[in-house]
Amino acid sequence: NEIYLNGQFLPSDQAKVSVMDRGFLFGDGVYEVIPSYGGHCLRLDPHLDRLDASLAATGIANPLTREEWRSVFERLIGTPPAPDQSIYLQVTRGVAPERDHLCADGVEPTVMAVAKPLKPRKPEIATHGVACITRPDIRWLRGEIKSISLIAAVMMRREAEEAGALETIMVRDGMVTEGAVSNVFMVRDGNLVTPPTGHLLLPGITRQLALTLAEGHGMHFREEPFPIEDLRQADEIWLSSSTREVLPVTRLDGQAVGSGRPGPMWQRMDALYQDYKTQVRNGRI
Ligand code: PLP
Repeated sequence: NEIYLNGQFLPSDQAKVSVMDRGFLFGDGVYEVIPSYGGHCLRLDPHLDRLDASLAATGIANPLTREEWRSVFERLIGTPPAPDQSIYLQVTRGVAPERDHLCADGVEPTVMAVAKPLKPRKPEIATHGVACITRPDIRWLRGEIKSISLIAAVMMRREAEEAGALETIMVRDGMVTEGAVSNVFMVRDGNLVTPPTGHLLLPGITRQLALTLAEGHGMHFREEPFPIEDLRQADEIWLSSSTREVLPVTRLDGQAVGSGRPGPMWQRMDALYQDYKTQVRNGRI
């Protein structure tokens, strides 16, 4: 499996970074995860726009042009293209001569990218849904930056796993923000609601795609903060992320969500999402 590192494509056991890399020392970097179907990236420009925003917010220059990123991804996906892949890319501030929070001038970013097969969704997810737990949102207040400093998300995923759940849904000041590694939607009385973007959560590409699909197919939605009590009363809860698509949540903190089965609105959204993927795979989007 090849890894792109600072302009070279290397076998994974030869792709090495210095211990002085600021990603290693400070978590000083940003990343993206981009799904690719049949050799075509899903929503490539929105992903690269979000990368630009994360880099701009942290004051790291984008080391590659959009064309260069595209050609790195093409090479990683291979010829003929491997079917369904997820591309991980990371840019750190680079390797500085000494460990100082303030980075010396002239340090070049460290750029890495790798592709791996995207696992197909387990069939029981569509029939039974997934379980989630809730926890206080202990993270910082720049959730819109896709930072590689992910220790809070790691802790939350561990807690979810221990509770036999897939994901942790976070709550700040009584309001739902997002999942540890996903965005959250709820359906109440036929209305789809998701918390608005801003500093509290990541503007998920899948979240935006789901809203665009909803809008195009006459599903009512609102981007509006809602309290955790409303989530507990929801008819449906969904999670969204690039690698997990849109998932139905059927248990929250051990209680059934709505009917306790994946709901009709989720089924509609999933059909739209699967259709969108097929169009990407066939190079039509
Ligand atoms: N929120 C957080 C904190 C995430 O880490 C992720 C993805 O990993 C998402 C939301 C979903 O974003 P996207 O749909 O762009 O994958």
